[in-house]
Amino acid sequence: MALVRANRITTIGQLAASMSHEIKQPVAAIVTNVQTGLIWLDSVPPNLPKVQEAFARILKDAERTAEVLNRIHGIVESNPPSRESLQINEVIGEVIALMRAQVAESGVSVRMQLADDLPTIEGDRIGLQQVMLNLVVNAVEAMSGLGDERRELIVNTRRDESGDILVCIRDSGPGLAPDHIDRIFQPFYTSKAGGMGMGLSICQSIMEAHGGRLWASANAPRGAVFEFMLPCTQNRITN
Ligand code: ADP
Repeated sequence: MALVRANRITTIGQLAASMSHEIKQPVAAIVTNVQTGLIWLDSVPPNLPKVQEAFARILKDAERTAEVLNRIHGIVESNPPSRESLQINEVIGEVIALMRAQVAESGVSVRMQLADDLPTIEGDRIGLQQVMLNLVVNAVEAMSGLGDERRELIVNTRRDESGDILVCIRDSGPGLAPDHIDRIFQPFYTSKAGGMGMGLSICQSIMEAHGGRLWASANAPRGAVFEFMLPCTQNRITN
């Protein structure tokens, strides 16, 4: 349930975009109705029933605006990102377990190569689960169009030379065209019929909130690689 709820969360920036869109229309209507009401008040004699009608419409639009604001406030309020000590391998295990049925049904085999020397990190468990979930779902969806080719998902964790944690998700799907690699992270970019195009941009915001980074590249011989880095402040590897 927490993951389903988390999937509905967008970042404040993305919320701002949809919020301004939803509020623009009723606010414009309020302005129009105030102008109309003033004209009816100014007429001699003032047309009070018309003024009353304008007030009723203003009230309706103001209530609609307040509703939009409340809804957005509710989303932000009820899901404050938490910070807890966690093992990224555990988070990955939870998401893969959750996805097992769908992955098997899609004929995808999963290979896990998880480093056992990873330090714990301070992070938002639900947010990190959401990142993993989005990347795994995207990989499985990308491979669903394959014919007889092998459908393989490889999840790998390791530490880089500066001690930061790297998580890598490789698939054997059609991969990413070079000129698409940057665009796929833009909000609302999707190549899927029913796609929202928000997944990767939300993942990127979640990584940034952790002081990390998410990027994509091509897999060899085919497929896509999505990799994210989580900075680790403790137990740095020193040479
Ligand atoms: P959505 O899944 O709703 O389209 P995303 O932001 O998660 O939104 O993904 C944006 C686009 O990036 C997808 O529509 C697809 O074109 C591309 N993409 C993401 N993951 C992969 C992948 N593993 N392989 C190929 N293309 C991908």
